[in-house]
Amino acid sequence: MTRDLEVAVIGAGPIGLIFSIELAKQGYLSTVFEEDKTIGRPCHCAGILSVSGLSRLGIKPKNCVENRLRGAVIYSPSGEYSIYVKREEYQAYVVNREKFDQYLYDVAVSQDVRVLTNSKVLRVRFGNDGFWRLETRDRNYRSKVLVNAEGAGRNIVKQLLGDNIKQKIIPALQYDVRGAKDLEVDTTEIYLGSSWSNGFFVWITPLDDDRARVGLATRGNPLEYMKHFMSKHPIASRKLSRAKIEKTYGGRIIISGDIGRFSGNGFL
Ligand SMILES: Cc1cc2nc3c(=O)[nH]c(=O)nc-3n(C[C@H](O)[C@H](O)[C@H](O)COP(=O)(O)OP(=O)(O)OC[C@H]3O[C@@H](n4cnc5c(N)ncnc54)[C@H](O)[C@@H]3O)c2cc1C
Repeated sequence: MTRDLEVAVIGAGPIGLIFSIELAKQGYLSTVFEEDKTIGRPCHCAGILSVSGLSRLGIKPKNCVENRLRGAVIYSPSGEYSIYVKREEYQAYVVNREKFDQYLYDVAVSQDVRVLTNSKVLRVRFGNDGFWRLETRDRNYRSKVLVNAEGAGRNIVKQLLGDNIKQKIIPALQYDVRGAKDLEVDTTEIYLGSSWSNGFFVWITPLDDDRARVGLATRGNPLEYMKHFMSKHPIASRKLSRAKIEKTYGGRIIISGDIGRFSGNGFL
């Protein structure tokens, strides 16, 4: 049996959840499909979120803020030069992404958004009757409006556009470390240079004066780049010489945005 939905959203990450909350405010009922069993897991994020961006969305992150940042220091490839970009007021939160996503989930559910966990959308297609059809393991659905918030996975995008997508994605690796030194707690650190990260950058984002998130995205093997960065970078290797890795995250980062025209027929 096919169940009718007002709005179908694929993915209960921040985009899918915030979009559904916004639709709920305007009186539209969304059903969000999430393939994972637990909202926010697995986590693949440093958790830096703009204070002004969240405020514009009316989101006050609760019980998930681990640190606040006033700015960043950006190091040249040799580490010899650096630029500080810093303001008096806090510019960004560092959140625990798992808790942040769960907070958004609570807000969404309180606005009558239906979130179906453990519900991977396997296939989508646009029918001759003007409805989108969605197939999960247990059930089929149809909806006039389909919102794709699947993140960097892109299985749905590939079903609709084929493999010929120009968007570039590179692998990322991140550690939570304890025992870092010489951190400025309100300043994230950005390290440029293709020998540390080929195609992106490395970050050290403090959680306090001892703990930090150290991450990078790169073409090539992120583990090799990370080992090289932590042991050889003239500035960072000193800061991280006694750091112990407490948690490891993987993930993928989209480094070029445009996938061409990709909306229409009630699809977003
Ligand atoms: C190491 C790392 C660090 C990062 N640090 C930051 C940072 O500090 N700040 C920042 O802003 N961004 C950061 N990012 C990027 C950030 O994680 C993403 O931009 C953000 O998660 C995108 O949100 P989203 O809702 O679009 O996608 P996601 O958060 O990826 O959510 C998509 C959801 O859709 C679900 N899904 C996918 N396919 C299906 C399907 N077929 N059926 C059902 N469910 C499906 C997935 O399980 C997932 O829960 C980082 C990324 C990485 C890898």
